[in-house]
Amino acid sequence: MSFQPTDVLDVLISREEIEARAKTLGEEISRHYGEEPIIAVGILRGCIFFFTELLKYVTCPLKVDFMVVSSYGDSQESSGNIKIDRDLKESIQGEHVLIVDDIVDTGQTLQSLGRLLETRRPKSLKVCSMLDKPAGRKTEIGVDFVGFTIENHFVVGYGLDYKQYYRNVDFIGRLKDGMQPAFDAHIDSLKASQNS
Ligand code: IMP
Ligand code: MG
Repeated sequence: MSFQPTDVLDVLISREEIEARAKTLGEEISRHYGEEPIIAVGILRGCIFFFTELLKYVTCPLKVDFMVVSSYGDSQESSGNIKIDRDLKESIQGEHVLIVDDIVDTGQTLQSLGRLLETRRPKSLKVCSMLDKPAGRKTEIGVDFVGFTIENHFVVGYGLDYKQYYRNVDFIGRLKDGMQPAFDAHIDSLKASQNS
């Protein structure tokens, strides 16, 4: 029988819940900026699903741009150092910048990124994250707009990956107890089939 994400994952937040929250958060962001133009900066790759869902509900004049930032590699722990693999196309000087990310854990990625972007003198710099895991925090970073606050679990889906897989799972899932070996075996089998 074919593999189903729910074999190894419990649904922590359903697709419907994420979509409903993206709407209210998009409305909140719209009220915050009013008629002021903003640049929404998506942090690839994790932001992809949430970015599009959220921005459908943002009504202020808006440009989009993206950055690719690496911090985790394939590990589940943040290194604290970020590498800019793809920088912005747009100048942000004098602009309202809204960073849109998937999850804030230690906060190290956003702290490093925030410091870099502040040197480019934006008019304002705020952060919207689909998920916030405050228990993992190792920095003072504040998240201005939060979709959901979660406990200290490793989660996948709706853009979030484990070893680059599971981003397309249409809910936010938490690994079932005792399922780590099955999870790893599934990824190994996917990698093996790529190489054959
Ligand atoms: P931070 O620097 O520890 O805040 O790391 C944030 C980044 O780590 C996120 O943008 C994700 O790419 C990754 N990350 C943190 N927690 C998780 C998780 O539970 N699942 C998947 N990726 C995560
Ligand atoms: Mg990320």
